[in-house]
Amino acid sequence: MKKITIAIDGFSSCGKSTMAKDLARAVGYVYIDSGAMYRAVTLYSLRKGYFKGQTIDTDALRRDMPDIRISFRFDPDTQRSQTYLNGENVEADIRGMEVSSHVSPIAALDFVREALVRLQQEMGREKGIVMDGRDIGTAVFPDAELKIFVTASPDIRARRRFDELKAKGQPASYEEILKNVEERDYIDQHRDVSPLRKADDAILLDNSHMSIAEQKAWLLEQFKHATGYEAD
Ligand code: C5P
Repeated sequence: MKKITIAIDGFSSCGKSTMAKDLARAVGYVYIDSGAMYRAVTLYSLRKGYFKGQTIDTDALRRDMPDIRISFRFDPDTQRSQTYLNGENVEADIRGMEVSSHVSPIAALDFVREALVRLQQEMGREKGIVMDGRDIGTAVFPDAELKIFVTASPDIRARRRFDELKAKGQPASYEEILKNVEERDYIDQHRDVSPLRKADDAILLDNSHMSIAEQKAWLLEQFKHATGYEAD
């Protein structure tokens, strides 16, 4: 069976990664979370003290970019992919509110995007990949055979993120999360480089009122259309 490339883009916290992971597992594809890569660069910048409030020392970060190595490794114990920054597992650190509230300005930097898009394209060279993010269908894999653009209302997305952080024992306030979701939506849609937008040939999915199981079934249906493949 010929492998295809699947691009899943959309707004923050609308369940893209759950969808992408489920689909990759069901069809035996590799899953790549491109947001984790922007988060890892953000964590690096925070640790180095490159943020002065929301202002970034771009000269220093640009100089360091070639030395920032990001990779993913599958952890058989948790059955999850873990993000590594220069050899260190940073999966927990990149998911907290500190990184969430600094990531969008980092993702708006052209030299950061150039480096990460190159790495993402390299990871998808052999196809058989599901990648989620903001610009996968528009900039990273404009020729992807299946493109999905996901959206849901901001309050539903904030509620899901709140529940997720709570389940992980990472305290956060619902209001703070909602503000963060709305801020990221704004910055992601209005930045100069690869702003978040639906590719013309992407299929729109509003999952505000869909369960994870319904979403999974819907996605498998799209996959079947795109490939003619019958998954379990
Ligand atoms: O997907 P996630 O919410 O983890 O992504 C974190 C941030 O990284 C987003 O808010 C966005 O600013 C940025 N991002 C991006 N392009 C991608 C993936 C994520 O700009 N392909």
